Amino acid sequence: MSYQLQDTIVALATPNGSGAIGVIRLSGHNAIHISNQVFKGKNLLNQASHTIHFGSITDGNVLLDEVLVSLFVAPKSYTRENVVEISCHGSAYVLESVIKLLIAHGARAAKPGEFTLRAFLNGQLDLSQAEAVADLIASDSKAAQQIAMQQLRGGFSNQLQSLREQLVQFASLVELELDFSEEDVEFANREQLKQLVLQINIVVGQLIQSFELGNVIKQGINTVIAGRPNAGKSTLLNALLNEERAIVSAIPGTTRDTVEEVLNIQGVNFRLIDTAGIREATDAIEQIGVERTMEKISQSALLMYVFDSTQLGTEEVEQDISQLQKPGLKIVAVANKIDTGSNILSPVALTDVEFIAISAKEKRNLEQLKNLLFTTSIKGKINTNELTVTNVRHTEALQKTQQALERVLNGIDDYVTPDFLAIDIKQALHYLGEITGNVTTDDLLENIFSKFCIGK
Ligand code: GDP
Repeated sequence: MSYQLQDTIVALATPNGSGAIGVIRLSGHNAIHISNQVFKGKNLLNQASHTIHFGSITDGNVLLDEVLVSLFVAPKSYTRENVVEISCHGSAYVLESVIKLLIAHGARAAKPGEFTLRAFLNGQLDLSQAEAVADLIASDSKAAQQIAMQQLRGGFSNQLQSLREQLVQFASLVELELDFSEEDVEFANREQLKQLVLQINIVVGQLIQSFELGNVIKQGINTVIAGRPNAGKSTLLNALLNEERAIVSAIPGTTRDTVEEVLNIQGVNFRLIDTAGIREATDAIEQIGVERTMEKISQSALLMYVFDSTQLGTEEVEQDISQLQKPGLKIVAVANKIDTGSNILSPVALTDVEFIAISAKEKRNLEQLKNLLFTTSIKGKINTNELTVTNVRHTEALQKTQQALERVLNGIDDYVTPDFLAIDIKQALHYLGEITGNVTTDDLLENIFSKFCIGK
């Protein structure tokens, strides 16, 4: 991949379509010069960094728009290059015309993620911070936003960086031993090296573990609502969402298709999936619904099993739940319709299943139900380490680091020669470096930045 850093790039930084304003961004050595050629107002070349200027954009004699131009002079900008942001009126036609005009004057259309790629290549952000920019833009809940923000501020990479530096020191001592291999000297104290590797291994292990939570927070928690027809699943879904989304009906088995809605509990998104009933299908369409329930369960971390407490006894509830259980699936059993004064099933009969009694119709105990869903799915996943990994790429690199560190530990125990030890230490350093971008390949960068939108 050629980065073409000498080019000045241009793209729309705001979403496509019409809006009150649309912002066009330029970055590169000639960004201010090119903008100045099409701008009528002050001479932009003489203006200070971080200033805003009113004027117009003209194509020859044709007035395209009245705009505000913001100047960021290198290196005090997002990309550390000269950056110009032109705030136009948000007409798709105007924005396209201005971009075309800037391209005619020497700018090039930016590729996806190219602004952030430049910020990384110019040392403004490390790789995990650049990825955090994408996560922040994509975040759709408070928890996801906070994790992305923490990563953007460098918390995650700072911690890895200091561990990496300590390991680099040991690597150089072990390498030094190679130069004196005839003399059988030991510069790197094996016991100290072992302690450091153990310490790094703990942190790396915690980070790997945090991914379980991080991923859940980023993606949301798939939550299946299942139960026999007429248990009140649709009523409950509507009550939780305060909206009439699913069809409520008194005829058993009418929720034919699955309905997905997002419920935010304490900043975490729960993707609620309402399904057809689990009783035996009596017709073909319903059969599809039952199969879909099982399929949805296989993709979910949490199951809300709803039953009608006026109809079912302990045995039937247990039977239903045992049909739905699978390893790793957390289950909350919800006894519905307590407003009828029904006898509520004793929770003692069910192990490994959380239990709550509610009335979906009268919206009783719904807050308690939400809290239970939250604690059941998040419980045991919160790590003592404040840092949370949300990225599959980071997790894979951490796992490879861990494997290399294990080999270092085994190597120390087996008194392997320094050359073998050095190889494994270097591997661990390599994978740690892949996270922060100390070690990168073109493929890796291409892969990361091509997933960004244009203009980011
Ligand atoms: P689903 O088939 O599980 O989706 O059940 P529905 O939500 O369609 O509800 C079936 C019937 O039970 C409807 O007539 C609801 O009004 C009624 N229902 C649901 N929740 C409650 C509740 O908490 N109390 C009472 N008394 N009736 C309920």
